[in-house]
Amino acid sequence: MIGAIIGDIAGSRFEWNNYKSKKIKLFHKRCRPTDDSIMSLAVAKAILESAEDFADLSAGAVSCMQELGRLYKNAGYGGNFYRWIFADDPQPYNSFGNGSAMRVGPCGYAARSLEEAKELSVKVTKVTHNHPEGMKGAEAVAAAIFLARDGKSREEIRDYIRENYYQIDFTIDQIRPKYTFDVSCQGSVPVALEAFFESTDFEDAIKTAISAGGDSDTIGAITGSIAEAYYGVPENVICAAIEYLDSTQMEILNCFEERFPSKAVDEDGEVSGTVFDVLHDAADKGIPEGV
Ligand SMILES: [Mg+2]
Repeated sequence: MIGAIIGDIAGSRFEWNNYKSKKIKLFHKRCRPTDDSIMSLAVAKAILESAEDFADLSAGAVSCMQELGRLYKNAGYGGNFYRWIFADDPQPYNSFGNGSAMRVGPCGYAARSLEEAKELSVKVTKVTHNHPEGMKGAEAVAAAIFLARDGKSREEIRDYIRENYYQIDFTIDQIRPKYTFDVSCQGSVPVALEAFFESTDFEDAIKTAISAGGDSDTIGAITGSIAEAYYGVPENVICAAIEYLDSTQMEILNCFEERFPSKAVDEDGEVSGTVFDVLHDAADKGIPEGV
């Protein structure tokens, strides 16, 4: 699930200052983890604390999103979600915002089948984004992650998405000049998916996503969550990203990556171990856990 966090951190400095080129550095001193990272970590925590059959996952998602949302209350939430975080009796509010898709990544990593990926997506999404487009955006991302983990090719994943979720009939090059800020699922999830479909490796996927413009951190997070499952994450990118995370965030990330491992790759793109191995080694070397 670190891919979503990396995409969010990398996109954070471009959300209000779009930069429509792939010639960017992923990390910069103005970068930070935002709501996309915090809510992905909240969903990860809910999954870690859930029963084996995930029967209690919806309730857990509500309590974990409220807990971390209140702890990191300035992470950049939309107004309706901010009110939901602080509500005494939080109810779904028919949202079709891309918040459902940016936080769903852990469901794709925890699932043991495509059907389960969809079920988990429904459980964590319906508590807020119960509009059909909100549900669809999250499920498409969870399904893409599971299919990538399952060894499907980019073309197979693209075909599945086209048949079941979105008719993507554009390239990033085609939309880049005119694409603007759009926080709806239907206006941003297809962009994030297309950035992955066009990508050549993990970093290229994130840079392609950010170069489209719009809601850059969220599109980066969504693309990153899928690209991690497909390519694995370069070790040096993992080490750079975790310098932006504090000890609370690192603890959830460590626990999730230990229980639901994903691939780390070396500079040649070859699988070198797991993300958890890299996190573990970084902690041993005394790299600061957060700032
Ligand atoms: Mg954000």
